[in-house]
Amino acid sequence: MTNTESAAGTARKTGARKSAGTAVKAGRKPEAAPVPATELEVRNPATGALAGTVPIDSAETVADKVRELRAHQPAWEALGPEGRKQWLLKLQDWLVDNTDHLADVLQSETGKARVDALIDPAFSVDLTGYYARRAAKFLADEHPSPHSPLARVKELTTVFRPYQVVGVITPWNFPLAMPVIDVIPALAAGAAVILKPSEVTPLSAVELARGWREIGAPPVFEVVTGAGETGAAVVGNVDYIQFTGSTATGRKIAAACTERMIPFSLELGGKDPAIVLADADLDRAAHGIAFGGLFNAGQVCISVERVYVEAPVYDEFLRKLTAAVKEVRQGVDGRRPQYDMGALANENQAQIVQRHVEEAVEAGARVMTGGKRTGVGTLFEPTVLADVDHTMTCMTEETFGPTLPVMKVADEAEAIRLANDSIYGLSASVWSGDKDRAERVARQLNAGAVNINDVFANMFSFALPMGGWGLSGTGARWGGPNGVRKYCRQQAITKPILPTQTKEPLWFPYSPPKL
Ligand code: NAD
Repeated sequence: MTNTESAAGTARKTGARKSAGTAVKAGRKPEAAPVPATELEVRNPATGALAGTVPIDSAETVADKVRELRAHQPAWEALGPEGRKQWLLKLQDWLVDNTDHLADVLQSETGKARVDALIDPAFSVDLTGYYARRAAKFLADEHPSPHSPLARVKELTTVFRPYQVVGVITPWNFPLAMPVIDVIPALAAGAAVILKPSEVTPLSAVELARGWREIGAPPVFEVVTGAGETGAAVVGNVDYIQFTGSTATGRKIAAACTERMIPFSLELGGKDPAIVLADADLDRAAHGIAFGGLFNAGQVCISVERVYVEAPVYDEFLRKLTAAVKEVRQGVDGRRPQYDMGALANENQAQIVQRHVEEAVEAGARVMTGGKRTGVGTLFEPTVLADVDHTMTCMTEETFGPTLPVMKVADEAEAIRLANDSIYGLSASVWSGDKDRAERVARQLNAGAVNINDVFANMFSFALPMGGWGLSGTGARWGGPNGVRKYCRQQAITKPILPTQTKEPLWFPYSPPKL
């Protein structure tokens, strides 16, 4: 079996194989109905090696686990933010102590380069500490000022009370960081959490739940594994859904949540533009955009997916970007970091990238470097495409791979118009020697976050709100106080300031009007 063959369909249903070849022959006793799959195989998409298996949790299992979480949640809420902080800090220590092990597991299920596999544990340590230490401040009661004479005699309080059970459903691109970014603030808020990771990369999430048990924390965090059916069961049982994944699945989840009248937040796809203005530092822009498009093999929701360059510097920028991309070392990595870029997470993803490149080339795009699969597993060469336009799928559909399509634009106005010509609006970057000019452009872009002369900077500033516009997402955002408050219902409490009387002037019977 070649690596390429072995990488096909990285998550396989093992139970389904038991029923293979069950064709009924005439005159023979019919064979039993196919046995439903009970387990998923998880394979390294770079090598085809078996990384592990997980159960396919049924709707009944999900309902049982949610019931148990519901029973334990009140005691967790009663601990208060300071009590919960102790457990979150213990988990942070566990994440630090287990960084290498977590990177091993993550690498085995994703085929990432070692440096990319180390990002998730580092990000998780940082974010866990951020919310553990700040949740008490973010969840403190608020006392708004009274606005009318009637309200002035009352003390007004806004209280943040958690939803009982939060469901977190995550994709495969960062198998530990994507769960952590929501599980931790939800736990910090006082909710119990059920996590359904991607069926392509569930092993890191299973490790996270093991860590929670290993530190002896209260049983308010559970993982269930399986594909869409298991995810749908989570949606059917919890009080709040946080979903990160594709726009297509997000639509289905929004419909299911609306039917149940439960709140939800969706973090969805993106097609992030980078705008290079003629006064930019072209060396910095080329290296920054190469990193922004190829980090994690381009499988990042906030990846640079399209580049617009002002005409006077188009050729020079293209030369510099191509040179920067040619420096990227790609391969199947071990524990000692050797490569900058590894595999794509599954065969389907490799085929999408290939299709976008082939369609662009057929329509007249030039391949400056890369442009094809390497022949090993799901690895796709780091690629720069020139002379693209908005008739090509590589400029309109999310590619989620290591490609950088570059388009020449006449001026700033055309760059803004084209950057905004998208159904998505997740993040963007502007590159210019004039920071004020760059900010003026940033304020005209339809994107939830804009980085000036940088990429991803907003993602590592947990204090900022992070979330998409348009079809990139809806609902409460990640980051800052909102990142934890979104897992709470707000409760308004009024209490009298002055001594109470038997009857308020406004109560029945009304006093007769003075004529
Ligand atoms: P996906 O939508 O296929 O799957 C995401 C999760 O949803 C998986 O756990 C899957 O099992 C589950 N699921 C599928 N059908 C379901 C259903 N009917 N009900 C409940 N759950 C269901 O996404 P993916 O392919 O795993 O991830 C890639 C996508 O994620 C890309 O579009 C990327 O842009 C997006 N993403 C977005 C962000 C962001 O912050 N906006 C971050 C990371 C990834």
